[in-house]
Amino acid sequence: MSGPARAFDLVIAGGGPVGAALAALAPPGLRIAVVEPRGPDREADAPVGGERAIALAEGSRRILEEAGAWRALAPEAAPIRFIHVSQRGRPGVTRLGCDECGVEALGWVVPGPALERALAARLGELEHVERIAGHVRALADEGARVRVRVEHGGGTGELEAALVVGADGTASRVREAAGIGTERWDYGQDAVLATLETARPHEGWAYERFTDEGPMALLPLGPRRMALVWTLARRRAAAALRLADGDFAARVQERFGWRLGRLRLAAPGRARHPLRMVRAREAVRGRAALVGNAMRTLHPVAGQGFNLGLRDARALARLLEEAAWDGADPGAPERLAAYARRRARDQRRVLAFTELLVRGFTSPLAPVAWARGLALGLLELAPPARRALARAAMGLA
Ligand SMILES: Cc1cc2nc3c(=O)[nH]c(=O)nc-3n(C[C@H](O)[C@H](O)[C@H](O)COP(=O)(O)OP(=O)(O)OC[C@H]3O[C@@H](n4cnc5c(N)ncnc54)[C@H](O)[C@@H]3O)c2cc1C
Repeated sequence: MSGPARAFDLVIAGGGPVGAALAALAPPGLRIAVVEPRGPDREADAPVGGERAIALAEGSRRILEEAGAWRALAPEAAPIRFIHVSQRGRPGVTRLGCDECGVEALGWVVPGPALERALAARLGELEHVERIAGHVRALADEGARVRVRVEHGGGTGELEAALVVGADGTASRVREAAGIGTERWDYGQDAVLATLETARPHEGWAYERFTDEGPMALLPLGPRRMALVWTLARRRAAAALRLADGDFAARVQERFGWRLGRLRLAAPGRARHPLRMVRAREAVRGRAALVGNAMRTLHPVAGQGFNLGLRDARALARLLEEAAWDGADPGAPERLAAYARRRARDQRRVLAFTELLVRGFTSPLAPVAWARGLALGLLELAPPARRALARAAMGLA
């Protein structure tokens, strides 16, 4: 690459929820560019009736508060006060309440577009953050700086910085351009998303129900609205999308039961999302670092992808703060190596937990089903273990 380039300290490729959170958390002494192809009006991108709802751990709420985005988001956040985990057609159930954990809520559910709006509004208030419309296409590591080629409607431009962060999602261009390989597998499943209306109020209960077809999560949204995330084998997911709205609701009802009275679709339409695990082999390379889905994309069964990505953003922001305090180079290899080390353990733990749920709770084999019934039953009888699990799920462990 050649020619004049606009200079920044930090270029963030991707203004999705993790990239935007990183820009909001990074120290204000840095000049930051956020390169994002999608316009600020993200709602147009969300499929009607199947918009993604994100379950936030209490630890994530605190990070969003630190990022200055929680106040705008709070009116749209539904608290999770109780969690109910069960399996269809087999014994074994565990329940957890916020009172026994001494917190106001075990977590919060926010509509994905509301989360992005709150973060975008926060970035609009920060003078040191500039939003640039376009795609990052290529990187050139020049030793002390990195050049970033950005393609936009009218052509291409160049930026240069001490550090480029790939927050550009599962198919990360930054990861590829930095030469970081991936490990990946396909679960052969899709998540079917829909918004349900319940005849009875949910009163802050979130449900995770393991069925022989795959796990089904119902998360509180409005007083009688719940977000459904139903993991199904790919061909079943395709069939579920073809069902008429009423037939689909009846199918969900049959699998979920009648705890909340009759279920209907609150908005027409459903969305379907293929489930894959993609993990970068390295978190950093040269002057590039990865965060969020660019670093790893998880199965949503444990609702941990964004929570984990937000912790990446906070860890990197802390390192940038330390560098700013020391008057040091924010993209120095030893700082980035420290970031990779700090994130490795959290990622391993969440990945192992997610895989346990995917493999242990979707297997129809009788011994596995028996073991998970026993595990759920034991958790119900052992409050300290349940509280420890809750603290881990809340991101407070
Ligand atoms: C069905 C489902 C349910 C989920 N539920 C939960 C949950 O309850 N809790 C939870 O914590 N997580 C959940 N997740 C995971 C969560 O949605 C993701 O982890 C999160 O969206 C990742 O954010 P991100 O910013 O890293 O990536 P993305 O949201 O993918 O954002 C990447 C951004 O990069 C931009 N981009 C792409 N290419 C380029 C480029 N070349 N240059 C510049 N920009 C680019 C894109 O336009 C996009 O805005 C769920 C996921 C699914 C599929």
